[in-house]
Amino acid sequence: MTKRVSILGATGSIGDSTLDIIRRAEPGVYKVVSLTANKNAEKLAALAKEFHVEFVALADEAGAKSLQALLAETQIEIGIGQGALIEAANRPADFTMAAIIGAAGLEPTLAAVAQGNHIGLANKECLVCAGETFMKAVADSGATLLPVDSEHNAIFQVLEADQPDGVKRLILTASGGPFRDKTQKELQSVTREDALNHPVWDMGAKITIDSATLMNKGLELIEASYLFDRPSAEIDVIIHPQSIIHSMVEYIDGSVLAQMGSPDMRTPIAYALGWPSRINAPVERLDFAKISQLSFFDPDVVRFPALRLAREALEAGGCAPCVLNAANEQAVAAFLDGRIGFTDISKVVAKTLERESAGRDYGCNPGAVEAIIGVDQAARRTADEQIVSL
Ligand code: NAD
Ligand code: MG
Repeated sequence: MTKRVSILGATGSIGDSTLDIIRRAEPGVYKVVSLTANKNAEKLAALAKEFHVEFVALADEAGAKSLQALLAETQIEIGIGQGALIEAANRPADFTMAAIIGAAGLEPTLAAVAQGNHIGLANKECLVCAGETFMKAVADSGATLLPVDSEHNAIFQVLEADQPDGVKRLILTASGGPFRDKTQKELQSVTREDALNHPVWDMGAKITIDSATLMNKGLELIEASYLFDRPSAEIDVIIHPQSIIHSMVEYIDGSVLAQMGSPDMRTPIAYALGWPSRINAPVERLDFAKISQLSFFDPDVVRFPALRLAREALEAGGCAPCVLNAANEQAVAAFLDGRIGFTDISKVVAKTLERESAGRDYGCNPGAVEAIIGVDQAARRTADEQIVSL
């Protein structure tokens, strides 16, 4: 049977890898229903034509004319603006890849969740800013959440979910990013280009910066807590520079199960897209004799405070993860624009959390999506104030 697939955030790195797998499949295995993008009308139009999609949505209204002109000779339906992202997510699909970056993906992803079908979840910020609300929406709709983030996909593969009492802890691995061995002083002068040059993974700009600050691992810690319903104390982080083991689960009998593979997102994407069946992914196979060594060490939360801030936000609960994520998105954008330095990113996040916690009860459950978006917007304004006052 043909699987109907939609991709939210189709023009990004995860979108590319997902479409690469679909492109290589036998004809008739997949039907691409809808694709969305933020600004890149040219790429969206080219993909829409290649995959004969039903509907495309472009978030940025400035690109409307160009998209309409590019698709004028086709039957492809076009939607523009935020509402169109929701419309794309509402089109009946068996599998939706949630691959928008940031909290901007929350509402479209929730719309896809409401269909009650399979969701490939790459957009970790959704879970960070709205963990409980998001997981409740998944439970209410009966959707199947298939983690695409490589660490969470690894855990999903080795977790004996029917034996929660048998699990002792989850162990998230981290490559450590490009600045793993830099001193605190050296970190102050790293450039945008240095930070965008990840040693192992090829990803979009925002997550590449998050990997360099270790905020990515912090966001993943929060993501894991909500996805697998485990408290902070049962989730550890270990640096593993080779990125061969993608994460592990330790059981009470002392067994540790790990998932391994080349550092290529097409493996977790193929796992999610094919689930519950395994499907082919065109990835390099592991050659253990060549790898020869796997190394591990503890993360340094003094040089990389983002990981500590994320753990504290998870433990504070309520609105804190949403504030952390919003502040980080603003700070990373400012770093990419050259407005602040690398070590300022964590400073902005810390100051925003401090400021926002003063007037807010973090123990509260932010609840409805509108309330979460309100917290997110307020935190962004506070973060912007911190950015200019640094
Ligand atoms: P990317 O920047 O390459 O692509 C993001 C996509 O989202 C693009 O299609 C873009 O047009 C769209 N988008 C961006 N801002 C938007 C907005 N405001 N409204 C609507 N659409 C918007 O990002 P990516 O690296 O593909 O990452 C996507 C998600 O997957 C992120 O949440 C990231 O953390 C997660 N993830 C990525 C990787 C990876 O290898 N790239 C690995 C694990 C998890
Ligand atoms: Mg990851």
